[in-house]
Amino acid sequence: MRALRLPLAILLLLGCRPEQVGCEPPAEATEETVEPVRRDPLTPRDAEGAIEHRVTFADAARHYAEVTSVLPGEGEATTYLMAVWTPGSYLVREFARNVESPTAATLEGEALELRKVTKNRWEVRAPEGGTLPERVVLRYRLYAREATVRTNFIDADMALLNGASTFLVPEGGLDLPHAVFFELPEGWESSVTSLQPHPGGDAHAYLARDFDELVDSPVGLGSPDLREWETNGATHVMATFGDLGPWDPERAVRDTERIVAAQHAFWGVVPYERYVFFDYLFGGGGGLEHSASTVMIADRWDAEDPARWRGWLGLVSHEYFHTWNIKRLRPASLGPFDYENENYVRDLWVVEGITSYYDDLLLRRARLTTHDQYLEALSRNIGRVQGTPGRAVQSLADSSFDAWIKFYRPDENSANTGVSYYAKGSVVAFLLDQRVREASGGQRSLDDVMRLAYERYSGERGYTTDEFRAVVEEVAGAPLGEFWATYVEGTDEIDYDAALAFYGLRLQPVDEEAEVPGWLGVSVGDHGGKVVIERVVRDGPAFAAGLNVDDELLAVGDERLASLDEAMGRTEPGDEVSLLIARRGLLRRVEVTLGRAPRSEWTVQVDPDAPAARRRARESWLGPDGVVEDEPAPDETAADGTSDEMAAEGPATGDEAAETAAD
Ligand SMILES: [Zn+2]
Repeated sequence: MRALRLPLAILLLLGCRPEQVGCEPPAEATEETVEPVRRDPLTPRDAEGAIEHRVTFADAARHYAEVTSVLPGEGEATTYLMAVWTPGSYLVREFARNVESPTAATLEGEALELRKVTKNRWEVRAPEGGTLPERVVLRYRLYAREATVRTNFIDADMALLNGASTFLVPEGGLDLPHAVFFELPEGWESSVTSLQPHPGGDAHAYLARDFDELVDSPVGLGSPDLREWETNGATHVMATFGDLGPWDPERAVRDTERIVAAQHAFWGVVPYERYVFFDYLFGGGGGLEHSASTVMIADRWDAEDPARWRGWLGLVSHEYFHTWNIKRLRPASLGPFDYENENYVRDLWVVEGITSYYDDLLLRRARLTTHDQYLEALSRNIGRVQGTPGRAVQSLADSSFDAWIKFYRPDENSANTGVSYYAKGSVVAFLLDQRVREASGGQRSLDDVMRLAYERYSGERGYTTDEFRAVVEEVAGAPLGEFWATYVEGTDEIDYDAALAFYGLRLQPVDEEAEVPGWLGVSVGDHGGKVVIERVVRDGPAFAAGLNVDDELLAVGDERLASLDEAMGRTEPGDEVSLLIARRGLLRRVEVTLGRAPRSEWTVQVDPDAPAARRRARESWLGPDGVVEDEPAPDETAADGTSDEMAAEGPATGDEAAETAAD
């Protein structure tokens, strides 16, 4: 066991310089040691009575694994089930649809009757008048070609297996341990997982203490690039799967180390001994959190573009923050998991919104982004909320609750009727942080809220909505009932000005006089050369005129329309135009009064006239202006005080990835 004091450099990394006014380093960081929480090593006794799964890959090139499971049998019949969803990704995905040709037998190989009884359950029945043996063998082929963080993927080169979409469990047997044995095809070198090795000592054999741990511990197989390092006595592994191309795993590790150090300092506790960052270079993006690992998908070309690289760092920061915020500090309503049904939660905005707030902020505090880049990220989040008409329809808490049927199942009307608990959640977290800072005279912040909530509610039960709010009020020293009613349970328009002014910031003023083209209030797509409406903005001009999704736009007046932007460029707000459209194959005319596009620029900028105290509040929040150090390792960073400004390269992609593909 190794206990390390947090070095001063990490405090500096967090933006806290001892002489700085209003910058209180976290108490845990200065007074206590940060050391990983150790688990008892597994013994052969832990493996007794374990369900056993053997996974082979004879047909990997065609995306199949063969799973052979030895499960307990009892009485005349026993039911076995597969999860229909996986924690962190709130959609019923029906994993059982990838199970093929299941059979049941005794250990001696005698066939047993197997019957599918629901979409995700199978029943094994003893011969007439008999009882099942204590151990039943179930075999099936598993199809895996969905290259996402929450499903399975297998090909000739590699595999990603998630427990929920791979393994069966007996009804009522969630507490049983699971032993998993992998037989690797020729040419595959490694299996990687946060599961502990099976005490039997075989290669590629692991043991999960129960079904929750099995589901929470994805396994990567193939020949990944493997890197390992220690931070505060805990081991970290970066496993990169896929052709590296321009991807530089060393740089990925170097930057990830800084994120890890900053988040250890933030929480003051390292709740694992070993943590695995899976990085699959499938292209695209996304991530899914686990207790001691995260699966991320990246594009190898992200490494070539500074903004896309920051997007990837944002993803790392986001998923890693979940190690605390949700994997241990979680809403009481989100556990124990019901793996066969939706699990409803009104606090997903705490889980995802607060995490989305801190993913950017902790990149800044780790000196991986500049002050300006942080403000750009904040601006983007504000813009996303304000660009969503559904913010006036759906509250943050309702958005959380309905994630299963709305956020995860978007359609052409989603933006009109809903708001993202990621985007609005992160904006509300920003407002909440500011409230706490202001109410406590700059002495405390949302950081303290999260640490206190972790201390109180990271146990078995989790927190209720009221308990989380009570922690915020306790730290702020002020009631927040109105804040909750307005921003969490309500759909009121958000007032950004006061919160921004607290930090000496403001929204870039809009030029009301500027000449702008007319606005129709639709988004269109090119459907084989046709300009077709894909979305109609609620209460916009097209909405008022009765234009519909799937209407094809043919002409404005008598002028053939080739591009909507071009056509609108010839108009002004207030113009009355006659549109020729096609709907269900017939032409018709629709008269529309064009409007003025709602504000689309939500750029947060430093207010040059703000008093010095506001600048100090900003520096206590973000660290001093403009410092970013790209090269040195964390403990060298602040010590030598060098600064290497990175140019702003436009919006990062990580937040969008976190929203659309990450969980
Ligand atoms: Zn998340």
